[in-house]
Amino acid sequence: MASEQTFVIVGASLAGAKAAETLRTEGFDGRVVLIGEETERPYERPMLSKEYLRGDKPAAKLYVHDEGFYADNDIELLTGTHVASVDAGAHEVTLEDGRRMPYSRLLLSTGAAPRRLPLPGADLPGVRYLRQMGESDALRAAITAASRVVVIGAGWIGSEVAASARQLGAEVAIVAPEDVPLVRVLGPEVGGVYRDLHAEHGVDLHLSTQIEAIVGNGAAQGVRTTDGSVIEGDLVVVGVGVSPRDELARDAGLTLENGIVVDEFLRTSAPDVFAAGDVAATWNPMYNRRIRMEHWANALNQGQTAARNMLGQDTAYTKLPYFYSDQYDFGMEYNGYAADWDRVVLRSGTSVREFIAFWLKDGRVLAGMNANVWDQSDGIKALVRGGAVVDADRLADPSVPLTDLTDLTNLA
Ligand SMILES: Cc1cc2nc3c(=O)[nH]c(=O)nc-3n(C[C@H](O)[C@H](O)[C@H](O)COP(=O)(O)OP(=O)(O)OC[C@H]3O[C@@H](n4cnc5c(N)ncnc54)[C@H](O)[C@@H]3O)c2cc1C
Repeated sequence: MASEQTFVIVGASLAGAKAAETLRTEGFDGRVVLIGEETERPYERPMLSKEYLRGDKPAAKLYVHDEGFYADNDIELLTGTHVASVDAGAHEVTLEDGRRMPYSRLLLSTGAAPRRLPLPGADLPGVRYLRQMGESDALRAAITAASRVVVIGAGWIGSEVAASARQLGAEVAIVAPEDVPLVRVLGPEVGGVYRDLHAEHGVDLHLSTQIEAIVGNGAAQGVRTTDGSVIEGDLVVVGVGVSPRDELARDAGLTLENGIVVDEFLRTSAPDVFAAGDVAATWNPMYNRRIRMEHWANALNQGQTAARNMLGQDTAYTKLPYFYSDQYDFGMEYNGYAADWDRVVLRSGTSVREFIAFWLKDGRVLAGMNANVWDQSDGIKALVRGGAVVDADRLADPSVPLTDLTDLTNLA
């Protein structure tokens, strides 16, 4: 007999779509409702600042599933539908049009949204943000039409948009308060590699620079820095980070702390309510802290784990944090998590843009990044998971196989 249960998923993007899929592959035969406010069916965002932005990949390559997948798997996909509230006590969600939908279990996979810039001029035409497919379409057209692009922010999105805009032939400036791009995550040594990369590709870098306004007469014409100078550009792209979309959870009284607080089983503080992906601040037993990841692999994997736990399987989320980025011809993968470290060890390859970087604390490897090196991930993961003190000289020596520094049997 089919289950009478209804599992509702709010947020129809990567985490939500993978959760819906997993409910079915795990044999759940009750009702599955996947609700998202975007008009597109679930799609993946990484290409929005890379191949798709440059027009190198079509929209068809972005979707998580084929068009027929949801109907074929009896998943009720409600696109263009905003969920207005959650009543965790009554076990129901209310849609924007007032419709109520009871749930047996609920997954919140509401993701994150770009932080807005609270500066004069931030509402001028010509100021753009990037999160959605339509915004990537509009940005591509705007880059092509612009005489000069100013990117505010030297994090992942800002750096990738700057690279793609250069590849599209635009003149590009980056303005950011940090002294090297990506310094918060990578530190000055590896961040410096990105600074040099952008400089070599002709990006006009204004680092250690604060902005006080976006200027323009009726439309953006540049940004004014705190020293009073103006960096000109008729397209201003703001990439200053994202905030978790935890408003439904907040209003429902769930515990929040930089996102929706969940344990390692992705359970929130309310019974039968789970959270996954960019919105979830997840307890990580290995790092002994809560971590909210804003990355593709986390959304993909947590969606699956959340579904299993909605089915009562008690599966802890134990994946090692992972993300990747591609800028120009420089690609990297990062495994692990280093919020603070006391040493960075570089294992050089055959060129300056081919290396593995390790972030260490008290002699232990917290995270490793392989840059333009593609066959070392397992060794890096094993070092991070192993948690043993390593010999930094041997770690730096490319003639010593990573597998000699660790016990690969611990690899998960
Ligand atoms: C331009 C760009 C490039 C990226 N590149 C990389 C990369 O190279 N590598 C990497 O690892 N990661 C990358 N990421 C990050 C990655 O895309 C995200 O981590 C991932 O999309 C998170 O998925 P999610 O399902 O948790 O949330 P999201 O993708 O944010 O989706 C949440 C969905 O929920 C919907 N929603 C929210 N509230 C409601 C509501 N009340 N009612 C209905 N629907 C609602 C939203 O509209 C949205 O569609 C990139 C992100 C962007 C924007």
